[in-house]
Amino acid sequence: MIRYDLICDHGHTFEGWFSSSSDYDDQAGSGLLSCPACNTPKVEKAIMAPAVKTARKVEARSEKAAKKAMSMVAAKIREEVSKNCDNVGENFAEEARAIHYGEKPSRGIYGSVTDEDSSALKDEGIEAHPLPDAFVPDPPKTKLN
Ligand SMILES: [Zn+2]
Repeated sequence: MIRYDLICDHGHTFEGWFSSSSDYDDQAGSGLLSCPACNTPKVEKAIMAPAVKTARKVEARSEKAAKKAMSMVAAKIREEVSKNCDNVGENFAEEARAIHYGEKPSRGIYGSVTDEDSSALKDEGIEAHPLPDAFVPDPPKTKLN
């Protein structure tokens, strides 16, 4: 079965079910089709293009919504990071060590680290994770050394 959206010459739209497209042609050709609203046999297939346009618009809109959701997530993470972690800037490696060895109370920190420091920390068994740029609070406000 196939479904066609149909429209009469008075602009009434309705749907019709046919076993095939030639079934539609047969029924339309022999005047068996009529509008359920005004009974006119002048019925034709509605042009579907506007529906396609709408679908594209919806797609574009959901992509926008997804991007917005992503940036809201990033903003939330930035907020969490800035609330719960100290920006120690370039002292990151030093601070991470101090916390790891119990010289300073445990706390969340973030900052920049050189590749050299990064691998040194790893060798010492100190956990540090790269923070994607989108998640770095910007601009770093308080708690700067
Ligand atoms: Zn009609």
